[in-house]
Amino acid sequence: MIYNVAGLLTGNLGDNQQHEFENERLVVDGRSLDEISGSVRLMRTDLTVLVKADIEAVTHDSCSRCLEPATVYVDVTMEEEFSPANADLVSGSGNRSGSRTIGTDGDDYYDSALVIDEQNFLDLTEGLGQALLSALPIAPLCNDDCLGICHICTVNRNIIACSCAKSSQDPRWAALAELMENSGESAD
Ligand SMILES: [Zn+2]
Ligand SMILES: [Zn+2]
Repeated sequence: MIYNVAGLLTGNLGDNQQHEFENERLVVDGRSLDEISGSVRLMRTDLTVLVKADIEAVTHDSCSRCLEPATVYVDVTMEEEFSPANADLVSGSGNRSGSRTIGTDGDDYYDSALVIDEQNFLDLTEGLGQALLSALPIAPLCNDDCLGICHICTVNRNIIACSCAKSSQDPRWAALAELMENSGESAD
């Protein structure tokens, strides 16, 4: 997911390239993102290259309800601007004011992950990985219909249909009822 954008940088405003990728794999912050596929459009703007990517990936997690392994599908659209380290390329000859606006004066927009290197390679790996990570669900599920773990007998209710749920009574009330029943018996 590294692209040479020298042609774009020396080209005209609005020039663009389209790239497809399939079945890539990334490890971001210790998490493995697999089967990454999608399309990337690189477009030359005034001083940057605008990247738009539609990406799908698969990752593995534990189901938040039943704790069994869950396959999680992620689908994300990423849009970022990458600034060339070699600013002279896009600013053109004689336009020195343009080159000063790009990331060299510590402004808030500068991000080392979003820089096109001196050899004009744009590396999408970091930005794409972060976009996928941020799109992961907070509470992944093995299945949308996962029944989870029974809070009373702790079986996985996807595997064993326990009868706990059939008793609609709250277990705390059941305990109280038993207590009252016992005290009633002793009063006899
Ligand atoms: Zn589950
Ligand atoms: Zn149960």
